[in-house]
Amino acid sequence: MSGSLPDPARAPDCSGRTILVVLAHPDDESLACGGTIAKLADAGAKIVLLCASRGEKGAVSNPALVAGADLASVRTRELNDAARVLGISEVVVFDHPDGDLRWADVPQFHVDIVLAIQRYKPDGVITFGEDGLYWHLDHIGVHERTFTAVKSFGPWAPPLYYVTMKEGLMQEIVAAARSNGAVLKGRPFNVEPDAFGDYAKPPDFVVDVRDVVPRKLAALRCHKTQIGPDNAFYHLTDEQARRLLGTEQFQRSPLDAGWHSVIEQL
Ligand SMILES: [Zn+2]
Repeated sequence: MSGSLPDPARAPDCSGRTILVVLAHPDDESLACGGTIAKLADAGAKIVLLCASRGEKGAVSNPALVAGADLASVRTRELNDAARVLGISEVVVFDHPDGDLRWADVPQFHVDIVLAIQRYKPDGVITFGEDGLYWHLDHIGVHERTFTAVKSFGPWAPPLYYVTMKEGLMQEIVAAARSNGAVLKGRPFNVEPDAFGDYAKPPDFVVDVRDVVPRKLAALRCHKTQIGPDNAFYHLTDEQARRLLGTEQFQRSPLDAGWHSVIEQL
């Protein structure tokens, strides 16, 4: 199905299946693969999200949102709100240090992922690719830990997938927001828009998520301390979101599980 969009009306029955999603920060789930998660959940899959950190080091869109509380707990609450929108069954948030995920707590995070695979016996695992969406070192660290943890299961390893972003997409999102009159200070997620999807390997398959884009956008906007008026996603119309956020792309990891997950049938 590489390069083509399957008919969304022919979604598979995913009841009894579990998909494990391993990411770095609150908001990664919505930004990277919120549509795929929602579609899997709608098709009956149990989605378990492991989030390595609480995003406690990231920039804050509006300090008033954090008044009287610590950022880690506010972002954990925002993540749980987004998870409800997407249909995620279980959110497990670890306290590995935001900003230092590539080097800190390496053995413990490895064990966390191994234990989750043993416990949930997922039909498939989703994490970042080698490019960490936009060369974010935390994302690359999560990619490395997840790859190693899945690999440690040898012939019993579940299929592992890398979510990537289309090159140029973030530029289009920023341009669309500006065409709506948005005055954006700073850069989306504090990186150059060109960095998103830069040199990402071509996808093996894409998932058509147009029918769940409103939920993907709603989930993103649950992350209020991140998606404020300075963020392009704040300003997208539903029509723009459907056009720009309507596909999500994946690579198969080089680990061959010998079978393919229901993710590839969406
Ligand atoms: Zn992130």
